[in-house]
Amino acid sequence: MKRCLHCSQTFESRDWFCPDCGWRPEKSSLVPVFSPELARSSSGFKASYFAPLAARESDHFWFRARNALIVWALEKYGAGVSSFMEIGCGTGFVLQGIAGHFPHVRLFGSEIYPEGIAFAAERIAGAEFMQMDARNIPFAEEFDVVGAFDVIEHIDEDETVLKQIYSALKPHGLLLLTVPQHRWLWSAVDDHACHVRRYTARELHAKVTRAGFRIERSTSFIVSLLPPMLAYRLMQRGKGNTFNPHEGLNIHPVLNKFFEGCLRLELALIRGGVSFPVGGSRLVVAKKTDKTVSNI
Ligand SMILES: [Zn+2]
Repeated sequence: MKRCLHCSQTFESRDWFCPDCGWRPEKSSLVPVFSPELARSSSGFKASYFAPLAARESDHFWFRARNALIVWALEKYGAGVSSFMEIGCGTGFVLQGIAGHFPHVRLFGSEIYPEGIAFAAERIAGAEFMQMDARNIPFAEEFDVVGAFDVIEHIDEDETVLKQIYSALKPHGLLLLTVPQHRWLWSAVDDHACHVRRYTARELHAKVTRAGFRIERSTSFIVSLLPPMLAYRLMQRGKGNTFNPHEGLNIHPVLNKFFEGCLRLELALIRGGVSFPVGGSRLVVAKKTDKTVSNI
């Protein structure tokens, strides 16, 4: 169902015209725009980052390995998925990966920045895109799976987002989350990425559970690369204001291959049932329940 952001009425319709109050979102380049003020004013991510990101991510170990992890999680925990919404789809690299493995799934992508949607719409022709504020999602019981990959750490009201995702999911729907982890890894990289926080497992589990989800699986990843990650961050600390945000995208090809190999090995272990306690990021897979309390 769609949910009117003006009167909160839910309705089934092909377009966004609310049958109750007549409200409809703005449109820009044929994409519905639900939160134009946020698109103009948001500081959560630098829109100028999209072009270099789109150019490098398909070869970059970090994005490739994260896609492999997400696709695996969706295959394992999202049996029978027919609709998938990605919150904060950026340039569409994740959605493109999902489209390749799940050609029959209806794909939806939302983003604060229209600049990101332009790249994403070019990559995945069959998906539906919208500009949206994740704190106010215009759907109710609509999706089998909602994913937010390295998104909620940018948002002050992360618990509001989790509750909105809960409402947008069908009964027993699935939440896939990745977030940056460990406060002791905080550095200029986080400052520049406009992160509000890096999570602890305890904090993330508590928030996901409070939103009504039951945690199905939780594991760290980027475990084997913690030493180089820590070294890189300590180097950035010494550089002060000279931090170059694009440096992390420009990695030597040999190192890039080696790092991807390390992360593929981690994924093999995760597939085998290993859940890592520490790592640069954390994956949480959680199911919509009737507000039952999780044991994890
Ligand atoms: Zn309405």
